[in-house]
Amino acid sequence: MRIPLNTTVAPSGTLRLVLRDQRVEVRYQIDARSMTSSARPAGDREIGVDKGYTEVLTDSDGQHHGTELGELLTSESDHRKIKNARRAKIRSVAEKARDAGQHAKADRITRNNLGTRKRDRRSSRWQQTVRTTTFRAVHAVVDKAALIAAEDLTKTFTGLARRGRNVNRRLAAWTKGVTAEALASVSERRGSVLTLVNAAYASPVVPCCQALGQRSGDRLHCTRCRVVWQADHAAAINALHRVGDPDITPHTPYQRVKRIVRERADRQPDQTADPGLQPTLWAESETSERSTLINK
Ligand SMILES: [Zn+2]
Repeated sequence: MRIPLNTTVAPSGTLRLVLRDQRVEVRYQIDARSMTSSARPAGDREIGVDKGYTEVLTDSDGQHHGTELGELLTSESDHRKIKNARRAKIRSVAEKARDAGQHAKADRITRNNLGTRKRDRRSSRWQQTVRTTTFRAVHAVVDKAALIAAEDLTKTFTGLARRGRNVNRRLAAWTKGVTAEALASVSERRGSVLTLVNAAYASPVVPCCQALGQRSGDRLHCTRCRVVWQADHAAAINALHRVGDPDITPHTPYQRVKRIVRERADRQPDQTADPGLQPTLWAESETSERSTLINK
């Protein structure tokens, strides 16, 4: 019998075969030290990242990574909503049959139409695709970065429960957890430093003037110098600015962060403006595509 492996690392040492849901899982250990030496080297820059909804990450250069994520989330969420509604209907048919004493019929429906094996296999395939997309996106960031500044994404982490309302939010929360995991493990393996920063009140700030910008859609307008930022790009730069910020540490409470940000915004623009910053360059095709995704 041949067992195909979905890995580029040749398994060695003791292999454990696990039979689950008529699938064979091959489990083996990889020496993390040998991975580090053979892995591609990390970059030498300091990069901030922001977790978006339509992509895995946007970095402080304005580059979007893992842009397939939005479509992966939308299609899976739509699929699950339809399937869940269908299952609820079938379940009520089975319950009616049972109430009417038709136990054989009820059992048959439960057995044939309410099984979970196919659904669970599809779900784990989807999860694997999201993980691959996420890890690839994080690797692309680490290619550039000796230091990555990111908010602590594990703070809002929730497990992937299978039922319940708000499929969208649960899937998004789960992918956030995968991003947190990928950031920690890839940066450790490739030798870049992951610095977790306070994310409170970072997104309304325009990096050009440190003022509070005006948000419209995914754009953030600076009312002082009139520069327009892509909101996730601005948030990624703000994350990077928070590394070593003496006033805003990861443990500074939200309200105090808000007060500090507002005080800084009230200062004269020439005290805080950073002429070295490059605002978002708008490519027409990209913006129209992004706004379609956001409007969904
Ligand atoms: Zn400005």
